[in-house]
Amino acid sequence: MTSSSPVQFLSPEEIATRKSEEAAHLKFADLAFVFRDRALRLRQLAAAHPMRDYLIFTADVADAQHTVLAAPRTVRLPSQEFLGEAARSGVAPLAFPHWSPGEEWREDLRDLLTRLLAQAGQGPAREVLVGLQVASAEQLDQQAERLLAGIMLGLDMATAPLIGAALQVYWTRLVARTQAAFPDLAFGPIDNARVCPCCGSQPVASVARIGNDEAGSRYLHCALCQTEWHMVRIKCSHCESTTDITYQELESTDDAFPATMAPKGAVRAECCGECGHYLKIVDMGKDAHVDPVADDLATVTLDLLVSEVGQVRHGLNYMLLWGEPTDESQALEHRHAGAP
Ligand SMILES: [Zn+2]
Ligand SMILES: [Zn+2]
Repeated sequence: MTSSSPVQFLSPEEIATRKSEEAAHLKFADLAFVFRDRALRLRQLAAAHPMRDYLIFTADVADAQHTVLAAPRTVRLPSQEFLGEAARSGVAPLAFPHWSPGEEWREDLRDLLTRLLAQAGQGPAREVLVGLQVASAEQLDQQAERLLAGIMLGLDMATAPLIGAALQVYWTRLVARTQAAFPDLAFGPIDNARVCPCCGSQPVASVARIGNDEAGSRYLHCALCQTEWHMVRIKCSHCESTTDITYQELESTDDAFPATMAPKGAVRAECCGECGHYLKIVDMGKDAHVDPVADDLATVTLDLLVSEVGQVRHGLNYMLLWGEPTDESQALEHRHAGAP
């Protein structure tokens, strides 16, 4: 665009071209496997792990997510105009609060609770599940909004993983249906490479992949909709600096090193000396079964290790939220750096 021309908007053809050129940069979740494989990995990691009971619980949640995701649903989709507007603005189209889940996500939550209660024993977990079952729509929506906006103040930490699990199911389905309905127009690169190009969420961790076309390439895995987007390796996913990146991992001599820990190099913390943030990277070349959410949960000791040297966590995992209650304006600014 030259300085003499007025502001121009991309034509639908230009948007489609721009999208298809970048399509290889997005990996959409395979709905038949994403939560099922996560449950398998969590059970594998749980054996002999200090957090065994919690990993088993999250495996049960992931199994329930797999079943609920496959349940028949009518889903409200964005219009072509809505998607085009987001593309012209260079933002993620389905980012909260620009896109609101309405009441549909609560149907996924109800289904999840029913399945989990059917197998829950007596105890605190059952109380949490029953408490959510009798909560009002207003209470549930308020908790969901806080979670999506990254507001820890007033967030019920006991129910947050279950609210997050339902939102994951809703958004994973929404992105898949939207992509199926508008394969050339729905999703593409956005101006902010640090957040999910589909839903605007933070990554949970990144994945070094294997396979013919993508061997060794690194993707950030969305904490909410499970889409992965490409980012070159050895680059900070928080400030995009490439100058002072180091890697930390647990050593097998550490006392807290679980017996079932993945092989050396399978899970590392990518630490940035510029901004002081880190994101874990799981390497399929070292262990083909790594899962960003499951392996992040199973390596909490690594978080403690890098926090001791002053690094701040950048990854968002709904199954284990970190951080202190924050000021609302700060949280919104942080979460919606890429939103309209
Ligand atoms: Zn996403
Ligand atoms: Zn950085």
